[in-house]
Order: sequence, then structure tokens, then C-alpha cells
Amino acid sequence: MHDSVTVRIHGAAGEVTGSCYELSTPRARVLVDFGMFQGSLAQETRNLTPPDIAFADVDAVVVTHAHVDHVGRLGMLDALGFDGRIICTPPTADLLPRVLIGSATLQRLRLEEHASGTLPDARVVEPAHLVTPRVIRTGPPPVLFGHRAAERIVRRIDAVPYRSWRDVAEGVRVRLVDASHVLGSACVEVEASVPGRDPVRVMFSGDVGPARHPLLAAHGMPERAPDLLVMESTNGGRRFRGEDPWEAMRAIIEEAVRRGQRVIIPVFALGRAQSVLQLLTRASRGGLLRGTPVYLDTAMAVRASDLHMRYPELLADGPQRDVRAGRSPLHFDELHTLTSRRESEALDRVHGACIIMAGSGFCDAGPILRHLAHAIDRDDARIVFTGHQIEGLLGDGIMRGATRVEINGAQRDVRARIDRIEGVSGHADADDLIDWVSAMPGKPARVALTHGTADGRAAFAKALSARLGIDALEPSIGDAIAL
Ligand SMILES: [Zn+2]
Repeated sequence: MHDSVTVRIHGAAGEVTGSCYELSTPRARVLVDFGMFQGSLAQETRNLTPPDIAFADVDAVVVTHAHVDHVGRLGMLDALGFDGRIICTPPTADLLPRVLIGSATLQRLRLEEHASGTLPDARVVEPAHLVTPRVIRTGPPPVLFGHRAAERIVRRIDAVPYRSWRDVAEGVRVRLVDASHVLGSACVEVEASVPGRDPVRVMFSGDVGPARHPLLAAHGMPERAPDLLVMESTNGGRRFRGEDPWEAMRAIIEEAVRRGQRVIIPVFALGRAQSVLQLLTRASRGGLLRGTPVYLDTAMAVRASDLHMRYPELLADGPQRDVRAGRSPLHFDELHTLTSRRESEALDRVHGACIIMAGSGFCDAGPILRHLAHAIDRDDARIVFTGHQIEGLLGDGIMRGATRVEINGAQRDVRARIDRIEGVSGHADADDLIDWVSAMPGKPARVALTHGTADGRAAFAKALSARLGIDALEPSIGDAIAL
């Protein structure tokens, strides 16, 4: 394999977190993403052991987008000996410093919470088939990096505009194209040259957005068909077409306003929060909210939403027109943005119809736990899930029908109504993924499926074979693909 280009899979293989891929040639070494494993305590602990990569020899790390499962371990790179550049799109370059510094702050906070016995804790206690065991920690939560390490990595961020080639290592250049997943998200087209051979093209999909993202501009495409496509398959076994999230949200809002219900929506700061805000903005403009207050209880989501105003050219037509006319597609009169714990706690005293959006979207930590503890046993409350949950975490348990939960030591019956709105996903479904591959300028010579559960990935491999005649690889962690 001496004169070959090799792609090695270091994460998100048969699972949906921990994205990390290594492309190497005899002269160069480039990583694509360095994300966190998320979910259980065991997953959290996995992050402490770095993958088997010669980090000091890595020339550059290319980042697809600012979600933690793609960037959460970047702060470890300094201690691992990396001294290259972090390549990403301009919006991701705006978001990354906050994500990395915020992550360092959160890790310190968790240590303090561990010391004071106040670490967030949430689990299902009934019914039996959904019970999640209590997390038993034998030591403090893992610390992957601190503020100084995060700041050193922040100084290495190098923003590259969409669709322009950039040399990142000897014989390796990259081009970022729009992934339509979250603001700033990119698919990475890599061209790697080895003396005496034609250059090899590899496309790393990152996370691919839906065919028609209501907020973001359409997908970009590689210049030519890749020799290898490393592709996500998160929703590879699911289909959303025909489901109209607006109709579902409209019905929930109308009923909540009429009955004075308290609506709680778990969201992630980047992506899900903006998708929900866009629906609520439409509701407000249509007069459905009728003054019902909406609270956005995550400072990072507020900043991420504001950032959309700075990149109108990256938005879908409607929102783009809004921004150019000077109005935000993500803001409306009833929206209150909260930035402190005190403001968040004060929501307990709000009565009557209201809508509360808070993180974490998986309901495993953050202010959402306080809002759930306050309302989950009330029959005038409803909890609205808008997308993917990780098995074993509280959000997944509630969505699947938990009847009794324990939040920070106190048990409560679930009396709130549970709603699920499909189709508010930042991820392409199976049909969208097939269309995305079909739209490339030629069929990829090889496809490796990653970033999906074992089932989702297997279902999508079958679909790729049946519909496009592509027999995809389903690599495991540590596997190398030689080109
Ligand atoms: Zn993502």
C-alpha cells in the first residue's frame, strides 16, 4: 500500500457518533472531523482514548460542521501533538470557537457538579422494558481538554469559502460543498495525488441534509464522481416524504393555545432549534400564537440563530428574501431569548399557554431537565419531540412511552402528552440520500457507509444496491480502504 491513498475509519462506524476519518498518502495525512462519542457513560469514556493516529504527522483537520459528534474532540489535538490547520467553512469558523470553549466550560462544570453531588441525572424507571439503569460512576467525569487547549485550537481555524479548492497538505487539496444540514455544513471533496498515478478523489459526506431544507440552500455537488464516497446513513432506513411538519406543529399550537397548555420542545442549539423557530415564526406571522410566549432557553441557540442573518446566500429562497428585506426568518414578537439560569428558573412561575425550547435535545443534561421535572407529571403539559434520539437517554425513553421517570433524584409519573413531529430533520431520509448520490456527476466507484446504526446502515446498503446497483462497504472502526 506504499504508493496508495488510504482512508481509515476511526469512528461513526455502525453508530451515529464519533465521526473521524483519516486520509493518508506516503506524503500527507489529513483528518476529516474529530467528533465525540455520545450516549452512555461507556461512550463518554471511549472519548478518553484517542484513535491510533500519528497526530504529530497530521497536516490538517477538515471539519464538516460544528456538531459535537463531528468536532467534540478537536480540543484534544493540541495535547496529541497536532500543529496543523483546522479547515472549515466561514460559518463553521464563526461557530467553532464557541463550541470548543463552551465544551471546556461544560467539562469543568461537570467536575464541579460531580464534586458537589449535583451531576444531572435522568432515567426511565417504568415500564420495565424501557428502564435505564442508574449511572454508577467510579470516578469524576472524563475531562478531554481545558480552556487553554481549546483556545490554542481556535487559533488554528482557517476558513475556506465554499466551492473553492484549497491545498491542505503536500499533494492534497480539498473543496467544501454545501451539505444543507446546518448553517456552515459541508461535504468534503478531497483530491489526493501520488507520484506516477492519476489523482484520487474521495468525497466525505459529513451529515447530509434533506432534499429540500426549508431554511438552507440546496446541496452542492462534487466536481466529478468520487473514486470513494464515505457517506452517512443516519436515516438510511427511514422515509419522511409526505409528512408535513408544519401541519403537525400548527395542530399542536392551536390546541395548546386553546387549552392553555405548556409545551416543552427539546432542541439542539444548532439545527433543530432553528428548524423549530422557523415553524414558530410562520405560526406567529399567521396569527396562531395570539401572544403566547415562546422561550428559547439556550444561549448557544440564540447566537446560532443570529448567525443565519449574516449568511443570506446560504439560505433557502424564502428565508433569504426575509433576510435581504431586513427581517429574520427565525424571530417573532412572542419570542423571548433567555441567557441566564435565573431567567430559566423563573419560567416555573409562568402560567397558562407557553412554549419552552431548551437543550439538550437528548434530555440528558441542561435546562431541559428542569423544565421536564416541572411539567412532566402535569396533564396540561405536552412534550414535543422533533427528531432523532439516542437509545438509552431520557428523551428516547419518553418518546417511546415511559410512564415514570427519575430526574435529578426525584421520581415523577409521565402525565404530559407526548407528541412527535416527523420530518423536522436536518438529515436526509433514505430517498433523499439515494437522490443525493444520483445527482452526482457520475456514479461513485466505491461507497463506504458510516454514521448510522447497524440497522439503518444495512437497510440503506440494500436500497443502494437495489436502486443504483452500488454494493456499499459497511466498514468497522479501524478498517482501512486502499485506493
Ligand atoms: Zn450534524
